[in-house]
Amino acid sequence: MNTLSYDIAVIGGGPAGLAAAVKARELGMDRILLVERDYELGGILQQCIHDGFGLLRFKKQLSGCQYAQKFIDLVAEGGIDVLCDTMVLELTDDRRIYAVSAQEGLLEIRAQAVILAMGCRERTRSQVSIMGSRPAGVLTAGSVQRYINMEGYLPGKKAVILGSGDIGLIMARRMTLEGIEVEGVYEVMSSLGGLRRNKVQCLDDYGISLHLSTTVTKIHGNKRVEAVTVALVGSDGKPVRETERVIPCDLLVLSVGLIPENELSRKAGVQLHPVTRGPVVDDTMMTSIPGVFAAGNVVAVFDLVDYVSRSGEIAAQGAVDFIRRQSARGNMVDTVAGSNVGFVLPQRVNADCGGKEINLYLRVRKPMKDVRAEIVCNGKILKSTRYGVANPPEMIALRFVPDGPLDGPLTVDVR
Ligand SMILES: Cc1cc2nc3c(=O)[nH]c(=O)nc-3n(C[C@H](O)[C@H](O)[C@H](O)COP(=O)(O)OP(=O)(O)OC[C@H]3O[C@@H](n4cnc5c(N)ncnc54)[C@H](O)[C@@H]3O)c2cc1C
Repeated sequence: MNTLSYDIAVIGGGPAGLAAAVKARELGMDRILLVERDYELGGILQQCIHDGFGLLRFKKQLSGCQYAQKFIDLVAEGGIDVLCDTMVLELTDDRRIYAVSAQEGLLEIRAQAVILAMGCRERTRSQVSIMGSRPAGVLTAGSVQRYINMEGYLPGKKAVILGSGDIGLIMARRMTLEGIEVEGVYEVMSSLGGLRRNKVQCLDDYGISLHLSTTVTKIHGNKRVEAVTVALVGSDGKPVRETERVIPCDLLVLSVGLIPENELSRKAGVQLHPVTRGPVVDDTMMTSIPGVFAAGNVVAVFDLVDYVSRSGEIAAQGAVDFIRRQSARGNMVDTVAGSNVGFVLPQRVNADCGGKEINLYLRVRKPMKDVRAEIVCNGKILKSTRYGVANPPEMIALRFVPDGPLDGPLTVDVR
C-alpha cells in the first residue's frame, strides 16, 4: 500500500472541495491534496448545464460547468495535487484516509487536517413508498439530468415528476426542451419544494402544471413504466382514494429530496445533527473531531452554490489555523433554532468572537410573509433583518460582527 502525507486532504472535488483547496493554497499551505471519485473535478456542477450559478460571487449568470471551471483553473494554477478516479473508503478519527484507485491501488493518506466535501445524494424510490413492481423508467431527477446532459440519452417520451424540489423543476424544463412531454409535477406538500424562481422559469414559462397536495400512489407496468396513479392528499397526509386518476407515461422522475453523504463521517465517529443529517460544525466548520472540517452539501443541503463555496473557504481558513495552532478554540456557545427555524448553521460559535465576522445559515419551518430574522444573545438583539417572504426552500444567510464576547447561546428567531 502506498502512503502519502499532506498538510490538508480534501475529500470531494465539487464546489465545496474546490473552494477549500484554492483558499488553503491562497493562505500559503504547500501540500494540499484533492481526492475525487469521479474521473473529473466539478462535482454535481458538471451535469448542471443551465445558468443561474454564481450570482452573488461573480455577479453573473454562469452555468454550473462554467462556475466549476473557474475553480478548476485555480486548482491547476495553484499546482494543487489532485487524485481523480479515487474513492475514499474510510476515514479514521486520527485523520488517516484509505482510498482506492485503478492506477494507484490502495492508498493511505495522512493529513494534518481533513476537509469533508462529499456533497449529497438524492432520495430514491426506496425512501418513498409507492405501490407497484419495479419496472424500468423510475429515475431520480439527478439521474435524468446526467443521462440527458452528459451521456446523451433520452430516458423516456412522456414523464410525470413526483416532488417539486429544484432538480425536478429544472429537469421539467430540460426534458421539455429535449422533446419529452412533461405531464405535470406532483407535490405531496401544500407548498412548493424548490425555489420560486425555478417554478417561474421552469414550469410557468413552459406551461407545465404544478399539483400541490397530490402524490403518486401506484406505478403501473412490469418491464417498463406504463402509467402512474396520482391522488390528492387529505389533511391527515393520506391519499384520498376517490380522487385517484391514472396518467399514462413511460417515465416517473423522482425529485423527493437530498441527503448529505455521510457514511465516511459516521464511520469516523463525527457527530451528526439529527435535522441537517450532516456533521455538527463550529464557526470554523470544524466537526466534533479535532482537525476534521466539513463544507458544502455534506454539512446541510444549501440552496445557492455561492454559499457552498463560501463554506469551503471558511473550512480552509479553519484547517490552516488549526495546523498553525492559531485556532485557540476557547469557550464555545451553541446556536439555537428558535421560533419557526428548522436549523441553524454552524451549531457552535466561539464565544470570544468579538470583532470577527460570523456567518449563520438557516431555514424556516413554514412559509411566512413580512418577517424579521433576529439573532438574540442573553435577551439582547444582536442583529435584526427584515424579509418580505421567508420560505423553507430558500436559505437565509445572516452575517454579523459581534462587538464583544458572547455571554450565552445565540438564538435565531424568524417571526
Ligand atoms: C443529482 C443532483 C443534481 C443537482 N442539480 C442541481 C442543479 O441543477 N442546480 C443547482 O443549483 N444545484 C443542483 N444540485 C445541488 C448541488 O449539489 C450543489 O449546488 C453543489 O454541487 C454542492 O456542492 P458540494 O461540493 O457540496 O457537492 P457536490 O457537487 O456533490 O460534490 C461532491 C463531490 O464529492 C465526491 N465524493 C463523494 N464521496 C466521495 C468519496 N468517498 N471519495 C471521493 N470523492 C467523493 C463526489 O463524486 C462529488 O464530486 C444538485 C444536486 C444533486 C445531488
